[in-house]
Amino acid sequence: MKRFFVHFWFLPFVFAPLVAGQNGAQPLGHHESLNSVLYVQTAVEYRATALGIYALAKLRLDEALQDPFWSAALEQLGDTRYAELPPAVVLDVDETVLDNSAYQARLIEDGTRFNSGSWLAWVDEEKATPVPGALEFTRYAASRGVQVIYLTNRNASGEQATRNNLRRLGFPVDERDDTILTRGERDEWTMSDKTPRRQFVADSYRILLLIGDNFGDFANEAANSLSGRDDSALNYAPFWGRKWIVLPNPLYGSWEGALIEYNYGAEVSDRLRKKHSRLKTAR
Ligand SMILES: [Mg+2]
Repeated sequence: MKRFFVHFWFLPFVFAPLVAGQNGAQPLGHHESLNSVLYVQTAVEYRATALGIYALAKLRLDEALQDPFWSAALEQLGDTRYAELPPAVVLDVDETVLDNSAYQARLIEDGTRFNSGSWLAWVDEEKATPVPGALEFTRYAASRGVQVIYLTNRNASGEQATRNNLRRLGFPVDERDDTILTRGERDEWTMSDKTPRRQFVADSYRILLLIGDNFGDFANEAANSLSGRDDSALNYAPFWGRKWIVLPNPLYGSWEGALIEYNYGAEVSDRLRKKHSRLKTAR
């Protein structure tokens, strides 16, 4: 019996790291984002979906170039002067053209969750990779003489790092004009609502397409409850898949915010309780 203990005393030291996060903060398998990060990083179904969406975007771009009165921007509704303006496409950055799932994976491994400090550090690392299809689409748009504009809620302090990241990956970034519009870059651009920045683009360009992963990339999200979002999305039915092109983002977004009433600081147990209460179960 004594020999048994002599030989097996070390087992807890071998297995403990396998069941705890790198810093031991949380057991593995309990993170809210595990499946969604793995879906983005490993599922051929995600890759194929993103490629399919950008293939659709390319067809819509060709269609839009044929029709001088085509505009994707609500800010250009009811005013045909935009027909004289040069064409542009407006793309969101995160999870639309840049894939930050490695940052999300880091959060899982560290047993922590999103916070602005670790996010700003990640932006400065310039390690984001391209969303499948985004590079080909933006290059195609640029080759057709369409200005490519990146409208992002990344903070203005990360604009240069974002520009470096995009350029290094081969995304078209026009240096003659500021085509990366960050949050807080101007006094009137401090809010996450992208409407004032879309208006700014709409003053100089005919906006052919809006491309993003979040409702706010297309319209003001004033009605941000679950039912408000549903009603709002229904109102814009003619835009989806035609002038508004949506990428899937299972990692985060206002879809998740709506589930937890935007209380991102709540304890995990409270967030999970809220999420469970939203399940639509049939018995
Ligand atoms: Mg995004």
